[in-house]
Amino acid sequence: MAPGAPDDAAAWRARARRLAEETVRPHAEEIDRADRLPAAIVGALAAEGLLGLGLPEELGGRGGDSRALVAVLEELAAVSSAVAVELAVHLSVCAHPIARWGSDEQRRQYVPPLARGERIGAFALTEPGAGSDAAGLRTRYAAAAGGFEISGAKMFISNAATAGTIVVFATRDPALGHRGISAFALRPPTPGLSVAQRLDKLGLRGSETTELVLDRVRVGPEALLGPEGDGLKIALSALAGGRVGIASCALGVARAAFDRLRADVRADDAPWKRHRLARAFADLSAARALVARAAERKDAGEEFVADASVAKFVASRAAVQIASDALEIAGPAGARSGAEAERLFRDARVFPLVEGTTEIQELILARELLGSKEERTV
Ligand SMILES: Cc1cc2nc3c(=O)[nH]c(=O)nc-3n(C[C@H](O)[C@H](O)[C@H](O)COP(=O)(O)OP(=O)(O)OC[C@H]3O[C@@H](n4cnc5c(N)ncnc54)[C@H](O)[C@@H]3O)c2cc1C
Repeated sequence: MAPGAPDDAAAWRARARRLAEETVRPHAEEIDRADRLPAAIVGALAAEGLLGLGLPEELGGRGGDSRALVAVLEELAAVSSAVAVELAVHLSVCAHPIARWGSDEQRRQYVPPLARGERIGAFALTEPGAGSDAAGLRTRYAAAAGGFEISGAKMFISNAATAGTIVVFATRDPALGHRGISAFALRPPTPGLSVAQRLDKLGLRGSETTELVLDRVRVGPEALLGPEGDGLKIALSALAGGRVGIASCALGVARAAFDRLRADVRADDAPWKRHRLARAFADLSAARALVARAAERKDAGEEFVADASVAKFVASRAAVQIASDALEIAGPAGARSGAEAERLFRDARVFPLVEGTTEIQELILARELLGSKEERTV
């Protein structure tokens, strides 16, 4: 089967569905409760080749395109958002950007261990004082003997606690705005880089989110990703791809919530419940079509920034609405801790906040629709 062919995506979907049902589902509730992802599950993702999805085969990757990736993420998220988000971050905002922006030497050094799952990837842009306005970040770097020295703090960083590769963004001088920002690929453990705290959160529990501190972290010149000053460009391009991935995760949660809703409406099909079911189906169908379109445009090499934003905007809203309806129709039993409807509702609510909030998707869409040239935020 040729990589990238439609059948290829179907084969990847089937593989992910089997893994999700057989290996992940028995642990899904425990992952949420303990807020930890068992190493055995990450090992299973690696064994199935999922951690190398979309990466070039000559770099240890497993082929597959964006259509394959969105199918895989939907299947995993329908069972455990944490597992899907771990994979989405590892690939979309770490391994894929390094494969795209790295030099030949960096690609050879960094990508194969990520593709094989020997290292997990993370992406560190957000800071305690800079999220949506990424150009306002304050983590600094300076030239130092034999490379660079980086100091600062990063907030809400997924996968960072266990990551073996982290793409970190820092500025040479905040006064330079977006032109001062560069990207560095760090390989922890490395002196000066530490996890300051694990952040307890409402949903996506099990996808570990941490605050990172960088205290005079020394890196060699080989850590600089792309030309100096191109960091924001790299971040925004990674986030556009990342948005397609997060939209797929939201779609998976929306689908799981829809399945619950339909089962409950089958048992009691009061007219108001039938209306909710029909509306949920419309929202789910719109989200599915938009995620597919964004992936197709990305695979075709077409401009997909607006498609990624609209897919993320609609899919995360659909997840929140359908999960809310599923909870309401399940009644008090659905609201109990440990009930699937309750977990889906908490997970869904986080999607509008990540990879650019809903308001930021609106800004991106307006900018794309109007052809504006203003400096881009996340
Ligand atoms: C579970 C989770 C995982 C995450 N993982 C990562 C990760 O791996 N790597 C990483 O770098 N970051 C990560 N983040 C951070 C996330 O991307 C940021 O939280 C997000 O970009 C918002 O930034 P902020 O938290 O600083 O909020 P702010 O930017 O301060 O925004 C606060 C509110 O103001 C609104 N707002 C801000 N600016 C505008 C504007 N110009 N117009 C209208 N409204 C606006 C926002 O929509 C939001 O509602 C994660 C966050 C969460 C919750």
